[in-house]
Amino acid sequence: MIQKPYTLNDMIKVEALAERFEATFWGARGTLPVSGEGALKYGGNTSCVAIDIGADRHFIFDAGTGLKKYSKYLMKKTGGKFDGYVFISHPHWDHLNCLPFFTPIYIPGNRITLMGPPQDNRSFRDLLDGQMDGTYFPITVDAFGADVQYGDMREGQHYFDGVSLRAFHLKHPGYCLGYRIDHAGASLAYITDNELGNIDIDDDFVERLAEFLKDVDFLIHDATYFDHEYSHKVSWGHSSVAQVVALAHKAQAKKLFLFHHDPDHSDDDLDIKLAEAFDVMAQLGATFECFIAAEGDTWDVVQGHRIP
Ligand SMILES: [Zn+2]
Ligand SMILES: [Zn+2]
Repeated sequence: MIQKPYTLNDMIKVEALAERFEATFWGARGTLPVSGEGALKYGGNTSCVAIDIGADRHFIFDAGTGLKKYSKYLMKKTGGKFDGYVFISHPHWDHLNCLPFFTPIYIPGNRITLMGPPQDNRSFRDLLDGQMDGTYFPITVDAFGADVQYGDMREGQHYFDGVSLRAFHLKHPGYCLGYRIDHAGASLAYITDNELGNIDIDDDFVERLAEFLKDVDFLIHDATYFDHEYSHKVSWGHSSVAQVVALAHKAQAKKLFLFHHDPDHSDDDLDIKLAEAFDVMAQLGATFECFIAAEGDTWDVVQGHRIP
């Protein structure tokens, strides 16, 4: 068979696809999903962010209840076809409990790699098996129809299908990892759950994290609390607005997305939280853009704009 030569248009398309680096928020709330009129603007699902790179590389950060919405989207768009990775920050309920509701994992022919931090002596696979052992959920991992691989993630530099992904050990009960992807000259960091306050005087945690996040284009960070709430929540493993803004400023991030909000915060509260972030930015002379992460929004990480 004679192969048709590539046209200039084909080449431009191929190049544009190679540069593709998009992020979609499927769930941006923390701890518990919320419903009702206080959660219509920013959505009520818990942590799940999907990253699409190039034509066919797919990375999911966390399996909070937002994963159900992504699953429905995939079923409609691709008939459930999915070949990619799920990176779990840590195995707390709001980051893991929607995995059994991710329909593509039951579909033969799909390939899914589940990665996350082990805890004490338990491998990540063991932790997943535990939440689906028939006691807490009726279906076990044996029902997965896809080719599912499991792996333990640890702090450091990794590559998945040629994409650079670095992991950083966060301040949170248990072993919790934040992730940073660098691709096509752009970068995105997913940092939840993480406590920036309550750091020992000798600990250079915030400096090390700022270095890890240096010049990142998109910083998604746990902003669970208002500043006035934080003193009652010390050592719970989450951050307040001013702490996160200061970190983004220190790291010279380009865009900050406030993420993983306390389930008692309504959309109106989140708007107040954003206004407080702007105040802190003005005090610091910070120049980055700041947003509340909104469920359903897709961003072009390379171009730096929201895709309508
Ligand atoms: Zn959480
Ligand atoms: Zn947690």
